[in-house]
This record gives sequence, structure tokens and C-alpha cells, in this order.
Amino acid sequence: MLIKKNKIGWVIVVVLSLLPVWLWYLAPTSIPRFLDAQNTLANLGQLAGLIGASMFALNLVLAARFSFLEKYFNGLNRMYDWHRWFGQIAFMLLLIHPLLLLPKYTFGSAVFAARFLLPLNSTAQNFGWWSLFLMTILIILTLYLRPKYNIWKLTHKFFGLAFLLGGIHVFLIPNDTYIDLPLRVYMLSLVAIGLAAFAYRSLFSAWLVKKYDYTVAAVRELNNQIIEVTIMPRGAVMKYEPGQFIFVSFKNKFLDSEIHPFSITSASDNHNITINIKKLGDYTSYLDKLQVGDIAEIEGPFGIFDYKRGIYQKQIWLAGGIGITPFLSMARSLSADDGYKIDLYYCVQNESELVYLSELQKMSPYLTVIPYISSQQGYITADTIQELSGSLDQTSIYVCAPLGMIDSLTKQLRLKGVSSHFIHSEEFNLD
Ligand SMILES: Cc1cc2nc3c(=O)[nH]c(=O)nc-3n(C[C@H](O)[C@H](O)[C@H](O)COP(=O)(O)OP(=O)(O)OC[C@H]3O[C@@H](n4cnc5c(N)ncnc54)[C@H](O)[C@@H]3O)c2cc1C
Repeated sequence: MLIKKNKIGWVIVVVLSLLPVWLWYLAPTSIPRFLDAQNTLANLGQLAGLIGASMFALNLVLAARFSFLEKYFNGLNRMYDWHRWFGQIAFMLLLIHPLLLLPKYTFGSAVFAARFLLPLNSTAQNFGWWSLFLMTILIILTLYLRPKYNIWKLTHKFFGLAFLLGGIHVFLIPNDTYIDLPLRVYMLSLVAIGLAAFAYRSLFSAWLVKKYDYTVAAVRELNNQIIEVTIMPRGAVMKYEPGQFIFVSFKNKFLDSEIHPFSITSASDNHNITINIKKLGDYTSYLDKLQVGDIAEIEGPFGIFDYKRGIYQKQIWLAGGIGITPFLSMARSLSADDGYKIDLYYCVQNESELVYLSELQKMSPYLTVIPYISSQQGYITADTIQELSGSLDQTSIYVCAPLGMIDSLTKQLRLKGVSSHFIHSEEFNLD
């Protein structure tokens, strides 16, 4: 089975993480690797360490948000999904790494075992210990305690330190990586790549990550929940495709300078960029304090949620709440002679949320808007979509909505025989 280009990213990560096993296998050894149970376990432990360290290094690359990698992972959201999976797998491997080494190096002695599992050994071993200790704390914090986003983000930066300590351990410890040149060069390259990716995103991003300078040109409150902000370039213009998003940081005394992701809602031929933001939390609730002339620093564009990537021109767009935003850019970028035939389901809880309805309705006949109000009609289902839009054959479907709605509709559509290749989704969550 051929793997599509947009899904090949995870395969590459797995292959590159497993490559040290092959190099290890080729490396000369004086004692047969699987001589007895102790040697077997110790060798498996070494392999767990090598695979875990390689995956950790590549995971730092995924976390560095390189936009050129998005197309191999089906978008940034999916790339971050893989990042979460690989992070957990790497951690498990690194955790079992010392445990598998125990029988060989502790000779069945509880005292030796306790010593081995504490930072009371050689410098090389201690680097590994501190790396694993730090990683354990960070994993518990990230996955189980789930602090507020800004604290979560700050603690994530310490993964770089855990990796650095682990990387030093890999090179100091007297095992195959120490002796065998190909394995050493390979691991050194991966560690260097991982550290460079980490430094790019977390240490020197202010200088290395390309940003565009914009300035706020207009701020409009659409209803008491949604703010529309238009920004215009102060220098270089960022080009984008409909449906893409940016990370933006505003300079305003009421707002912290943290970057937040927002979908672009303006047409892609527009030099100015418009974003529409729902007031939801600590940051977004203060965006109405923005003033014309405030500076906006943007990074992007990101995302591959673009109707032009769909195979079919007959399309169904499913927007849940503020999930309408990428569709606004798509709709505004379309024209009658593009040949598309689109049904846009504009799903909201209450009628007052249909703020873009009249604008979108003017795009008929190539775009038909179907407002759907859940407080009156219940949740939209695939049956309803089929009833109103007809056959779902040869139709590309786009969903941008809360995760629950995406999951439920995707399942229902799949049960109706729609292939996952024709369902494209975007969720407003990256953590
Ligand atoms: C690809 C993408 C596109 C988006 N497009 C839009 C849009 O067009 N309009 C819109 O209103 N919202 C959009 N969002 C959601 C928006 O980014 C969050 O609602 C906003 O960052 C929440 O900030 P807050 O501090 O006000 O909310 P909080 O209540 O503090 O946070 C709510 C959640 O938002 C996420 N979040 C918070 N801060 C950040 C951050 N700095 N970076 C990333 N995620 C964060 C976390 O998951 C957090 O749990 C989009 C999100 C993504 C990932």
C-alpha cells in the first residue's frame, strides 16, 4: 500500500528512530549480544535507549513548528498529535532503558540496584539519571496535571534541558555508541538536529523565526462575543492561502505578548489580514482593548485546510461556532467562475451567533448557506446533511468545529461510506 505524501511524516520519524537498531546490529561486538538472559536484557535496554533518544530528538523537530513539514503530517494539528504520541513512546522507552540494564550491572544485589537507580554512579550515568528525572516530572506535569496554557508552555521549554542531559549521557556512556563510528555519527547528528530545533524554537526564536510586522488597522465588535481585527503590513506582506492561520502577538498594554493562533478570515488576495476572535478566556476577552496603530507581530502562514486541496469541486463545509472563520476566508476567496458547488452548514447554538450569515448568503448560487441552530434543531447529523445536500459521493467535506463535533460527524460520515481521504478537519486546539 502506498503511503500518501501528507501522511508520510510519521513513517519517516519511525524509520529514523529505528535506524540505530540496524547500525547497532552491524556494529562489531566481542561478546555475543544474546549470550544469556542478562546480556539479552542489557542489549534490549541499550536499544530502548537508542530508539527513545532518537525519537526524542526528532520530536523536538516536530515541536519546532517548521511550516515546510506540515504537508508531510497533514497539517500542524496532526503534526502536534504525532508529537504527543512520539513523546510518550520515547518516554516509555527511556524509562525501561535503565530497568532492562539492571540485571547485568547489579549482579542480583538490592544495594547495587538501588545505587544503580540513583544518581550515585559515574558522571555519564548521572547525566542519564537527571535527564530521565526531569523528563518524568515534565511528562507528569504536561499529561496529567495540565496547568494553564502559559505555564504548560513554559514548562515545555525544559524538555530541551532534559534532552541535552540525555544527549551528553549517550556520548559519554561506554557502550556501542562510544565505540562504533557509524552509530556514534548517526546519534551525534540526531542529537545535534534535536538541539538545533529546540534552540530555534525556544531559545533564539526572537532572532531566528521569521515574523512579519503588521499594525492594527481596524477593530470591530461584531456582537458581544466576537471581535474582528484587521491588520495591515508595515513592511513585507505575508502571502497566504484561504483557510490558513497565523500566530499573532499584539503590543498593547492590556495584553500580554504571548502568541496565539487565529484563522485568517480575509480573502487570500488581500494585503491586509483579518481575524475574527471569540472572547473565550484570559487573553481573548481583552482583545477589544486593541487600538488602531497597535503593533502586531505575526508568524505564518500555517495550515493546509484549504478547499483547493479537495479532490472534488462539489464540497460540503461544516462550521461549528467560531469554526466558521477559515470558511470565511475560503468563501471570500471564491468566485462564481471557479466551478465550485458548496453547501456550507453554519452551525451555532443560538440564532444571534449567525453574524456572517447575510454576507455568506450573497454568494449564492455557488455557495449555499444552511444555518443550523442547535438550541432549536438539536445537533446536526450526517443523515440531515445527506437529506439536504443529496448524495455524498464524489464530495470533499471540510469540518472546522469543536473536537466533539468533528469526531461525531467524522464517524457518522464514515459509516455512510465516505472515505477519510475526503474528510478534512481543523480543530482550534494545539496542546
Ligand atoms: C489552528 C487554530 C486556529 C484558531 N482560529 C481561531 C479563530 O479564528 N478565532 C478564534 O476565536 N479562535 C481561534 N482559535 C482558538 C484560539 O487560539 C484560542 O481560543 C485562544 O488562544 C484562547 O486564548 P485565551 O487565553 O483567551 O483562552 P484560555 O481560556 O486561556 O485558553 C483556552 C484554550 O486555548 C488554548 N490556548 C490558550 N492560549 C494559547 C496560545 N497562546 N496558543 C495556542 N493555544 C492557546 C489552550 O488549548 C487553552 O486550553 C484557533 C486555534 C487554533 C489552534
